[in-house]
Amino acid sequence: MAASKKTGKSEESGTKFVYSFGGSKNEGNVSMKALLGGKGANLADMATLGLPVPPGFTLTTEACDQYYKIGKEKIFSMVSGEVSVALKQVEKETGKTFGKGPNPLLLSVRSGAAASMPGMMDTVLNLGLNPDTVAAMVELTGNDRFVMDSYRRFIQMFGDVVLGVPHHDFEHALESVKAAKKVKLDTELTANDLKTVIDLYLAAVKKATGAPFPVDPMAQLYAAINAVFGSWNNPRAIKYRQLNDIRGLLGTAVNVQAMVFGNSGANSATGVAFTRDPSTGANRYFYGEYLINAQGEDVVAGIRTPQQITLMGSREWAKSQGVAEAERKTRYPSLQEAMPTVFAELDAIRQKLETHYKDMQDLEFTIDDGRLYMLQTRNGKRTAAAAVQIATDLVKEGLIDEKTAVLRVDPASLDQLLHPVFIKKAEDAAERLAVGLPASPGAATGRIVFSAEEAEIRADLGEAVILCRTETSPEDIGGMAVAKGILTSRGGMTSHAAVVARGMGKCCVAGAGDVVIDYKAKRLCVKDKVLKEGDWISLNGSTGVVYAGAVETVDPQLTGPFGVIMKLADKYRTLKVRTNADTPHDAQVAVKFGAEGIGLCRTEHMFFEGDRVVSFRRLILVAETVKKLKDLLGKQNVDELEKACKSTLAKKELEQALQAITQYRQALKELLPLQRKDFIGIFKALKGLPCTVRLLDPPLHEFLPHDAAGQQSMAKEMGVKAADVKALVESLHEFNPMLGHRGCRLGISYPEVTAMQVRAICEAAVAVKDSKAEIMVPLVGCVKELTMQKAIITQTIAEVEVAKKVKLDIMIGTMIEVPRAAMTADEIAEEAEFFSFGTNDLTQMGCGFSRDDAGKFLGDYVQHGIYDYDPFQVLDQKGVGRLIETAVTLGRKTRPDIKLGICGEHGGEPKSVAFCHKAGLNYVSCSPYRVPIARLAAAHAALSNNK
Ligand code: PEP
Ligand code: MG
Repeated sequence: MAASKKTGKSEESGTKFVYSFGGSKNEGNVSMKALLGGKGANLADMATLGLPVPPGFTLTTEACDQYYKIGKEKIFSMVSGEVSVALKQVEKETGKTFGKGPNPLLLSVRSGAAASMPGMMDTVLNLGLNPDTVAAMVELTGNDRFVMDSYRRFIQMFGDVVLGVPHHDFEHALESVKAAKKVKLDTELTANDLKTVIDLYLAAVKKATGAPFPVDPMAQLYAAINAVFGSWNNPRAIKYRQLNDIRGLLGTAVNVQAMVFGNSGANSATGVAFTRDPSTGANRYFYGEYLINAQGEDVVAGIRTPQQITLMGSREWAKSQGVAEAERKTRYPSLQEAMPTVFAELDAIRQKLETHYKDMQDLEFTIDDGRLYMLQTRNGKRTAAAAVQIATDLVKEGLIDEKTAVLRVDPASLDQLLHPVFIKKAEDAAERLAVGLPASPGAATGRIVFSAEEAEIRADLGEAVILCRTETSPEDIGGMAVAKGILTSRGGMTSHAAVVARGMGKCCVAGAGDVVIDYKAKRLCVKDKVLKEGDWISLNGSTGVVYAGAVETVDPQLTGPFGVIMKLADKYRTLKVRTNADTPHDAQVAVKFGAEGIGLCRTEHMFFEGDRVVSFRRLILVAETVKKLKDLLGKQNVDELEKACKSTLAKKELEQALQAITQYRQALKELLPLQRKDFIGIFKALKGLPCTVRLLDPPLHEFLPHDAAGQQSMAKEMGVKAADVKALVESLHEFNPMLGHRGCRLGISYPEVTAMQVRAICEAAVAVKDSKAEIMVPLVGCVKELTMQKAIITQTIAEVEVAKKVKLDIMIGTMIEVPRAAMTADEIAEEAEFFSFGTNDLTQMGCGFSRDDAGKFLGDYVQHGIYDYDPFQVLDQKGVGRLIETAVTLGRKTRPDIKLGICGEHGGEPKSVAFCHKAGLNYVSCSPYRVPIARLAAAHAALSNNK
């Protein structure tokens, strides 16, 4: 093996794969997250700050990358020299020896990628134990029980993580000894009991693997490193990265660190803490949980009830759980009460770390026989509510500036704040079932499911579900992602369910102890109340209360720190944000969310409602007849057509023609006031903000009934035969309707519809003071289409101006949603005063994916990395984006002041908004609930651009 003696650095590659931290040697620092992972970089950083960090070393993410590229044997041979040198350093710092008495060094081996992925990858603690070192440790500490506890934990973790022994084999063995001893808690087992457990564990390993448990400490170490590298690509880690859009990382680093022991007696403990409340962002007290005489995962595993760090937190916890003060004090004292000196030291560290990182931290610590050690710090995961609260507080506290505060809030996460909470009255009246911990805020109502699989199946069918589990594990992640809320009967605020739900911004009530879940019988009982799978249940994640049945919800408040962040976003963004809305209510909601106008008012929805669909169907019934007559007699105008018919057609034909013309005119006459009323409502709601109204877009068959019963009732209503309606539907059938007779193609065939719509818009604009209407022609691919439609539009505007004796200032523009339009945008800009990129259709036609059918295979495309994201959700910048950039350049060449926007679904998607900013658009337009997301994303784009 070729390795330099002094540094151990691989001479083969010249690459340094191992970095020491803690004690007197700190080779890493906080800027090295990509290489050392978040945990490794911050451990080095904390040690540099002089905090008590047990010494150790980090194998880099590059080593993990090589592990996958060149294989485990080669990379282990390349790193082994460095590992030996770093291990010697740890021995020197601790005065202990790895694998040998009299004072054996035990190690923890933990994963740590550049992006935090809590609980997704593997960990092994107490590594280095074997019969010899166990004996030496007993001799050294005189604490038989502690050593046996550490040993059984090691066998279980190593057996599970490294050797793949089924978890329940160990559970079963432990439970059998507990049952025999008639005890409930692990802590009640004696050293001798634990020896029995160890024997059972060793037998379980032998049975499952066919080999004895490995005793060579060095072999244990490499096997554990191998397992951690391997866990980078376990299914749950892959799923977590997919869900959180974590990409481009090399792999996980491995942190090998000297063990300190929270399980060495009553003067020892382990805990996790947040420097501020990760649910609300409040900075009222030091928020965290700990357990005396415990190790590693105990606090988050929900096995014992964790205790609070501060007295204040402990009292609040006791109140919420109905625990009396006397019981709290004796059974669940806070760290502040139980170990006041250590608490004071920890509290000082909390402040030091917050000031240092200028952000809320998530800490892990261990107290070993009264001595405090820091095992981790990282920027804490938080709900969106907490993110806005913390960002605005940190500005007030002078730790960060406004721009940083804006960048601290993830635009997509705002979604959590924009959704409804329970209506107070409905909640007051609801049947209270149980109380758990308010693990992740918000309100959720749905049907009970007991497994992640069932959650995914039902959610796929469009059902709202609440995932109810005793406790969740990383395997449940898919079900948690689709559930409206999560309920667990065990576990604390830092349990898996709580942490993951907060990360997802999902309502969660954890540790509702009164809820008894029976997976087999698929039911949930609270005392004598029984709920079955499929029954409705409601959760208040902000109070922890669980209700039977569905509870009504209400829109959220948009003031407070949320309002502050939005104001700051507005201060720094340059892109305007409009909304896609076609009712006064949606327009009002959007304006409340900060929309600066409507970027897309789709008019087709207005034709579907009530009586108007009847009028519109009457029009469709004769539209083609009128068009054919026009073609036959060479007339453009209906009045001229009527005259021509009268002078040329025979009686019977004339009768039919006049009937069709009359019906056509009548339908338009009926539709005009209805459309006008719609626009008046919308313009009023906008209070002077601009409104881009798009002319009719979908193919006509969409307005007709396709089933026999519907066709019969339409026939009755229209006074025609059902067969005629059927024939009409068949005549309008198209193989590719999305590429068919729709958009401006309808306006070209039936110009009177365009004229009616424009008249309605103009008359509404006259009726509502300060209204700012803009008229948009859809699906233009060729400038002549726009020229023709524009002629009708300008003529109609002129007619209304004369009739109403007003001057109307109405912009006329077009959607750019056909690739040909993008490529000939210079020509189109001769006619259009504005472009609005219809990226739904532009994606459909640009990528050649049917927007109605491609969902079937686009998931696979993303999985194979053919596309990074579903191009209908996140703009395909390389392809469709280039069409946009081309159109922007060509459009501005012809008309430098042309107004440019986007109104496809991408207008509210943060990455796409950033692209729009870069491409130089003037505004994005999105659905009302995404307006705040787009405002913040626009600010992020502006601020990141300036960096
Ligand atoms: C578009 O195509 O992007 C668009 C906004 O129009 P629609 O979705 O109505 O086709
Ligand atoms: Mg479109």
